[in-house]
Amino acid sequence: MAKVALVTGGTRGIGRAISLELKKRGYRVAANYGGNDEAAQKFQAETGIPIFKWDVGDYDASVAGLKQVETQVGPIAVLVNNAGITRDAVLHRMTPQQWRDVIRIDLDSLFNNIQPIINGMRDRGFGRIINISSVNGQKGQIGQSNYAAAKAGIIGFSRTIAAENAKKGITVNVVAPGYINTEMVQAVPEKVLESIIAQIPIGRLGKAEEIAKCVAFLASDDTGFITGSTISANGGQYFVG
Ligand code: NDP
Repeated sequence: MAKVALVTGGTRGIGRAISLELKKRGYRVAANYGGNDEAAQKFQAETGIPIFKWDVGDYDASVAGLKQVETQVGPIAVLVNNAGITRDAVLHRMTPQQWRDVIRIDLDSLFNNIQPIINGMRDRGFGRIINISSVNGQKGQIGQSNYAAAKAGIIGFSRTIAAENAKKGITVNVVAPGYINTEMVQAVPEKVLESIIAQIPIGRLGKAEEIAKCVAFLASDDTGFITGSTISANGGQYFVG
C-alpha cells in the first residue's frame, strides 16, 4: 500500500513541486492550502491530488484538517511542513501584527501539525517529517527578523523532536532553501533581486523542483539514519551543515 504524504502549502510554489515529486515517486499525496481557493482548485484539477484547506497557524483547525486527511486518504507517513509567509519590515518599523503573523504561520504551524499526529507515527513505528526552513533563518536578513526567527526556530525544534522520536522509526529533518524562483521571490523588487542573485555563487535562483528532490530524498525509506539534519540548498550562498 502506498504511503500517505501530506504537504502543507502544497498547492503553489515549492509546495506544489514537492506534491508533484512525491506523487511521481508513488506516494498518495494530500495537499493543504490556506486561502487561495482558485489556485488550489486549479492545482487539484491539473494533478488529481486532493486538496484540504485549513490555516496551519491555528491549532484546532489543524487538528480537524489532519483528521480529515487521515479519514479520507489514510494515516500520514510523510509530513512536509512547507506553508510559510513573509511580512518584511526592519524591526524599528515592524508592527506586532507582522511579527505575530509570521511566527504563527511559519513556526507555530509546526507544533500545530506535528503534535496531533506524532503519536500515530510512534504507534506505527514509522514517520518522515521534513520541515522547510530558509537560508535567511541560518544567516539572518535585514528586514526579516520575524521570518529569520521563525526559520531558525524550525531548526532547533526539528533537532529536538528528532531526538525525542529517534527510537520510533521517525526521522525529522530540515531543508533550508536559498532563493527559489516562486511568487514569494518574484514579489521582491527587481533591484533587490538583482543584488541577491549577485550573491549566489551558482549565479541563478534555485528551482522549486530542486527543493522537491531534497524533500523526496529525506522522505524515502532509505534515509532512516539521517535525522536532525539540515540540507542547505542555496546555490552556495551560505555553506552550513
Ligand atoms: P508561496 O507563497 O509560493 O506558497 C505558499 C504556500 O503556503 C501556498 O500554498 C499557501 O496557500 C500556503 N500557506 C500560506 N499561509 C498558509 C496558512 N496559514 N495555512 C495553510 N497554508 C498556507 O511560497 P513558496 O513556495 O515560495 O515558499 C514555500 C516555503 O519555502 C515557505 O515556508 C518559505 O518560507 C520557504 N522558502 C521559500 C524560499 C523562496 O525563495 N521562495 C526560500 C527559502 C524558504 P494559499 O495558496 O492558499 O495562499
